[in-house]
Amino acid sequence: MDPKKFETRIKARLNELQDRLERVETTLDEPADADLDDQAIELEDDEVLEALGRASLQEVRLLNDALGRIADGTFGTCRTCGEMISEARLDAVPYTLVCRICAGAKATHATGSAHPTGKAQAGP
Ligand SMILES: [Zn+2]
Repeated sequence: MDPKKFETRIKARLNELQDRLERVETTLDEPADADLDDQAIELEDDEVLEALGRASLQEVRLLNDALGRIADGTFGTCRTCGEMISEARLDAVPYTLVCRICAGAKATHATGSAHPTGKAQAGP
């Protein structure tokens, strides 16, 4: 695993997000259209843009944290179990803090997406 490779990718991603955030801000600053119907649509768009902006800001924070971990040498180590995170996983999510196994264990409890009813694991 070569942290330098991820450092390059993370910095490229940060540039991308910075561009996106600037576009979101520019769009949000545009005055609303005079037509009422269009205003309603613009309000919806603004909400989408704000959500997008928030998600991007969150990712910027995570990516900066990852750069910090590259600098102090802890990048790629699972925060939960201390094992090395697989390179394939880091390729997919360079700012991840936990390995696939720990993330999977957490996701099952946190989102329940694999068992939408929440009762699937309760047994017969
Ligand atoms: Zn782990």
